[in-house]
Amino acid sequence: MKIGQSYEGTIKRQIYSAEEIAAAIERLAGRIAADFTGQPLLLLGVLKGALYVVTDLARAIALVPDGPSEIVVDYLCVSSYGNATRTSGEVRLLKDTTATVTGKNVVIVEDIVDNGLTLEYLSALLAERGPARLASCVLFDKPYHRRVDVALNYVGLRCPDEFVVGYGLDYQELFRNLPYLAQLQPWVFRVE
Ligand code: 5GP
Repeated sequence: MKIGQSYEGTIKRQIYSAEEIAAAIERLAGRIAADFTGQPLLLLGVLKGALYVVTDLARAIALVPDGPSEIVVDYLCVSSYGNATRTSGEVRLLKDTTATVTGKNVVIVEDIVDNGLTLEYLSALLAERGPARLASCVLFDKPYHRRVDVALNYVGLRCPDEFVVGYGLDYQELFRNLPYLAQLQPWVFRVE
């Protein structure tokens, strides 16, 4: 896949293609749809990183026969403190859900899980509100530096132990709209 001028020379290697990501989303959708057959479902995307995961996942679930009886998509927005390529676990809630969580079947949809602290924070926050069921779905799993043993119910693809960008994941707000997952050239991190 050829990329545009703005990303020219910045990509070291492609890790997962757009097609591989689409296939993973379809597999996740099938599993979630089967687990919530005939029941209402609230998909909660964690912005900004999960913006594509949750929209693609919601549409893929809609195409599964015998899936949930209804699907509501909502978002919350968090920012994590840390350095440019690793979070510290100090999570700040920037935008809460609009939908009520109490009594609902909720699936938290995350882009990537690394040390696990962001998902742990969100799971605790939402569990306090008394959902009927609370599950987590993550597209990319980086299991190498977990600091907490957070439960992942639906996992898409294993991610190498690298800082990655694309398909919603950014480096300093750039690269989110790359349609594939990629590793950046080292020089990108040295440019201010
Ligand atoms: P955790 O709290 O599990 O360490 O990290 C979760 C969040 O850190 C993700 O939602 C994402 O925003 C960010 N993150 C973790 N690993 C990566 C990575 O390789 N690339 C990018 N762009 N963000 C990451």
